[in-house]
Amino acid sequence: MELSKRQQQILDIVRAEGPITGEQIADQLGLTRATLRPDLAILTMAGFLEARPRVGYFYAGKKTGQIFGDQLRKMLVREYKAVPINIAENTSVYDAIVTMFMEDVGSLFVVREGGQLVGVVSRKDLLKVAIGNQDTREVPVSLAMTRMPNIVTVTGDDTVYDAAKKLIEYQIDSCPVVRPLDETGRNLEVIGRFTKTTIAKVFVELGENREV
Ligand code: ADP
Repeated sequence: MELSKRQQQILDIVRAEGPITGEQIADQLGLTRATLRPDLAILTMAGFLEARPRVGYFYAGKKTGQIFGDQLRKMLVREYKAVPINIAENTSVYDAIVTMFMEDVGSLFVVREGGQLVGVVSRKDLLKVAIGNQDTREVPVSLAMTRMPNIVTVTGDDTVYDAAKKLIEYQIDSCPVVRPLDETGRNLEVIGRFTKTTIAKVFVELGENREV
């Protein structure tokens, strides 16, 4: 985050004299409280300052790294998920490979009618069949996929941070974003895709965000 000159001045004042009211900061800078309001709001939202009612502003002392972490924990999978590419269980390994090329994805979700998740098939799952002696047109993806209940999933309400941690922990490239299909919670509907590319996009977005 790049601070404006005025925001930097505000931080210096609060660091030296906080707790201090908005009025007092404005006085020191020879500005009105109204002129200062947007800067104070930005500095508070970004975590540099803390505002306490009837007391004033404190320096929150957050380092850039902390602010980055806070941002990641505020971002929800729901807002960043990609469109899932689903196939049926009886799709051949050959057709799954063609779908991967056409859709430009590294994993496909295997679903029943109604969107119920039954499996995940990745590049390596398909390569394994392809380098074996089987005919890829004859083998259904259901024989190559990782199946439920062994699938690692995320929900729209999970944070981008938690979802990214799951990909690292389980050493996978993608997770289906799901919601329960019924009360049991065991049957899941696929509503999106969270991948390492999603994380790269979020990373670039945070890097571009220079005002706040
Ligand atoms: P790649 O095969 O391109 O390395 P992954 O690392 O995602 O892709 O897949 C590695 C293995 O993990 C594959 O056998 C795949 O079926 C399985 N897998 C992929 N995604 C998941 C997931 N969300 N939950 C459980 N297993 C998965």
